[in-house]
Amino acid sequence: MIKQPFITREKAMEIEKEFPTPFHLYDEKGIRENARAMMKAFSWNKGFREYFAVKATPNPFIMNILKEEGCGVDCSSYTELMLSEAVGFKGEDIMFSSNVTPEKDYKKAFELGAYINLDDLTHVEFLNNLTGIPETICCRFNPGGKFELGTHVMDNPGDAKYGMSKDQMIEAFKKLKGMGAKKFGIHSFLASNTVSNDYYPTLAGILFELAIELRDATGVEIEFINLSGGVGIAYNPEQTPNDIAVIGEGVHKKFDEIMVPAGLGDVKIFTELGRFMLGPYGQLITKCIHQKHIYKEYIGCDACAVDLMRPAMYGAYHHIEVLGKENAPKDHVYDVTGSLCENNDKFAIDRNLPEIEVGDYICIFDTGAHGYSMGYNYNGRLKSAELLLREDGSVEMIRRAETPEDYFATLDFSRYHDKIKFDK
Ligand SMILES: *Cc1c(COP(=O)(O)O)cnc(C)c1O
Repeated sequence: MIKQPFITREKAMEIEKEFPTPFHLYDEKGIRENARAMMKAFSWNKGFREYFAVKATPNPFIMNILKEEGCGVDCSSYTELMLSEAVGFKGEDIMFSSNVTPEKDYKKAFELGAYINLDDLTHVEFLNNLTGIPETICCRFNPGGKFELGTHVMDNPGDAKYGMSKDQMIEAFKKLKGMGAKKFGIHSFLASNTVSNDYYPTLAGILFELAIELRDATGVEIEFINLSGGVGIAYNPEQTPNDIAVIGEGVHKKFDEIMVPAGLGDVKIFTELGRFMLGPYGQLITKCIHQKHIYKEYIGCDACAVDLMRPAMYGAYHHIEVLGKENAPKDHVYDVTGSLCENNDKFAIDRNLPEIEVGDYICIFDTGAHGYSMGYNYNGRLKSAELLLREDGSVEMIRRAETPEDYFATLDFSRYHDKIKFDK
């Protein structure tokens, strides 16, 4: 798959007059088209809803675009709930899938009327004592062991801290029913960033069988099955991207095979995708500000791991192009680095790229999800701006870059007011 920057070098120069690099740039057109393809793929299910995982891109402008496309939101913290409330999500627009949940967070989710997804059996009592049990309630399932597709081990649920065992699910449903719950949801997240059209259908098969078992064991009404996140993206152009239409049809087939004959043909399907909804529709634009020639060739950028942590954290591959040099031969080998005093602050290692000069714009791909949002402030580095490339080609700032004032905002300088001087 050929990966193309959203903007040309000329456009980057124009944008930079108003908004200096580095910045994350989001492509509204791509976001909308993908969201529509998602809705279409699951339109066979009357109650279908995608709950965008807010943690992937917690920006109200982005969330509003997805709201306009019919999405709800998946939150897992107090501030994500606040943000969602501010954008106008309420009640059943919100899925609250948290773990190690503080009281304050549950209270907020309850007040908003969100669907609450319990991560553990002990949270049944915890929530009951705190707010009481809402009419509709969801529990998160963890089957343990390894999760395999064919012969390939996708992930290791047995090592994951999330969810409850099948026996605990049965016990939780019985207790919740006794506490007044009327309708039930089942949730599970078994593998992250899967690049396979089989992940969702396989997971759906497991959860559909579980739904029947739970209904038969407890007599509860199953309202929805939440397939959660995990449908991934092709970070590397050599990978074949997921086809959401094929995935939707795969889940449909399992639904017709398992749910319909069991009398569960009205159950709603929910998803909680973050990466798939936004990942490819964000790019980090950074400028080469230094070059260094020692035992290797280094390109020094004005962005660093503070703006995109995935390469440092997971060794993740992010594709790179140099604006205006997309068709030039990739006959140089570089480490593309940021400025942190951490040797893992490298966007790419031993990457074949065209010859890069100081001042060139470097486009780092697939930063739309788990990009800006994972950022931090190590070395006192400040987080970049977020810009939105509108469908008409205009560019709007949807989050300004951090300033030193932001960085120091949590400190009380009253005793030292002479010592910190902000630029005017
Ligand atoms: C992170 C997360 C998601 C989204 O995962 P993606 O890989 O971005 O699709 C959904 N649900 C829960 C509970 C999560 O923790």
